[in-house]
Amino acid sequence: MIHEALTQILSTLPHGVELCAVSKYHPIEALREAYDAGQRIFGESHVQELQVKQPQLPSDVEWHFIGHLQTNKVKYIAPYISLIHSVDSEKLLLEINKQGIKHNRSIPVLLQLHVAQEETKYGFTPDECKELLLSGICQGLQGVSIRGIMCMATNTDDILRISQDFDRAHQFYLWAKSNILTDTNFTIRSWGMSNDYTIAIEHGSNMVRVGSKIFGAREY
Ligand SMILES: *Cc1c(COP(=O)(O)O)cnc(C)c1O
Repeated sequence: MIHEALTQILSTLPHGVELCAVSKYHPIEALREAYDAGQRIFGESHVQELQVKQPQLPSDVEWHFIGHLQTNKVKYIAPYISLIHSVDSEKLLLEINKQGIKHNRSIPVLLQLHVAQEETKYGFTPDECKELLLSGICQGLQGVSIRGIMCMATNTDDILRISQDFDRAHQFYLWAKSNILTDTNFTIRSWGMSNDYTIAIEHGSNMVRVGSKIFGAREY
C-alpha cells in the first residue's frame, strides 16, 4: 500500500521536485516500508517522536522537522536534523545558529511564511520576514544556513485561494533570492501537502510535504 502510494505520487512529480514523506503519528514499521521502497526524506513535527524514531532507521535517512519548534528543544535535534522547515521567529533562528555552532555544523533551515487566511498557522508575515532579512541579522550566521521558504496554504477547497497563497510565498522567495539571499544555496520552496501538492507545483513549489496520501489517515 505504502509502496504503491509512494510510486504513484513520485510518478506525478516533475523533475526537480522533491518529496518529503510526512510520517508524524505513523509507526516505525510504516516508515520502514517507505524506506524499503526507496524513500529517504521523512518529515516529523514533534521532537519527542522524532527522537524515538531517528535511531531506528538507517543513517542515510534525511530527517526534516516541519512542525512548530520550541527554542528549548532545538538542542535535541541539532546533531542530526537535515532541514528545519519551520523557522518562524528570530529567536528560533538564533537558537538554531547557536546549536549549529555547538555541534560544529551549519544547520539548513527554511523561513516559514504565514500566507494563509487563518489565524491558526505559524510563521512570519511577508512584511515581518522582509524586515528580518533586511536587518542583516541573517548574514554571517555560522551555525545556520537559510535554504529557502516554507508555507502552508489556507485549508479550503477553493483552488483560487490556495493558488494565491502559494503565489505570495513564491513572490516573496523570488524577492529574497534576487535581493538578499543571492547565494546559490537559497533554492527550496517547500509548499504543498496531500490535498494541494499538485496546485503547489504549478505555483513554484520544488519540495512537497505529503503525509496521509502516502501513509493513510493519522491516528492521534
Ligand atoms: C502534517 C503536515 C503535512 C502533511 O499533511 P498531509 O495532509 O497528511 O499530507 C505537511 N506539512 C506540515 C507542516 C504538516 O504539519
